Amino acid sequence: MAGAASEQERSPESQAVRGARRGLLLVLSSPSGAGKTTLARRLLAADPSLRMSVSVTTRPPRPGEVDGRDYRFIDPAEFARLQAAGELLEWAEVHGNLYATPEAAVLEALKAGLDVLFDIDWQGAQQIRERMGQDVVSVFILPPDGQTLERRLRERAQDSEDVVQRRMAAAATEIGHWGEYDYVIVNADLQTSFSGLAAILAAERLKRVRQPDLPDFVRAVLAGL
Ligand code: 5GP
Repeated sequence: MAGAASEQERSPESQAVRGARRGLLLVLSSPSGAGKTTLARRLLAADPSLRMSVSVTTRPPRPGEVDGRDYRFIDPAEFARLQAAGELLEWAEVHGNLYATPEAAVLEALKAGLDVLFDIDWQGAQQIRERMGQDVVSVFILPPDGQTLERRLRERAQDSEDVVQRRMAAAATEIGHWGEYDYVIVNADLQTSFSGLAAILAAERLKRVRQPDLPDFVRAVLAGL
């Protein structure tokens, strides 16, 4: 692997193309319990050019969640301040709590030539599409069936029965928006779903519009003929 990568790095052509890559925003949505968080973590671990967008939320942390890694946990007053200051790329109320994507970190990552991964609901996905247009690639993760979704929700023992019930009701609403997404993955098998997601990212990165230096690159290739 390392050998192959250093081979590529020695090639000026591949650097010219890769150096000017136009970053993309990869948006993942799904009902709670469809496996979206697991898929997002795997993709991040496998891909050094991808950064997670860390949301802010007024929801209290669950056991094991780390402030600044899983979310920035803030109070409603701070949320309102960020909103008023125009610092949020999108925001939504989900399951009675407020969630939002701070804009600055996203723009910084894109400027640094990275792609950004979002784990957000359908409301946030709509807003990001409106704001960021063709740079957005959206993927909806569906559970293989209703029973699997309910079981996965219950296995997350951190949530109370009341919360599980509310999330089941919200799942139907979230699933109703599947048709707004570019890609849909039915997550029956994690490895298969992960391969599909990685393939989506790889193909989207190769789109012509995301390689703005191609004309120069092609000119250089032709000049060397
Ligand atoms: P949880 O509380 O289980 O971490 O997340 C609940 C839901 O909120 C998930 O569907 C998640 O995708 C969504 N969510 C998390 N962060 C954001 C955000 O910044 N914006 C929006 N719109 N939804 C978010």
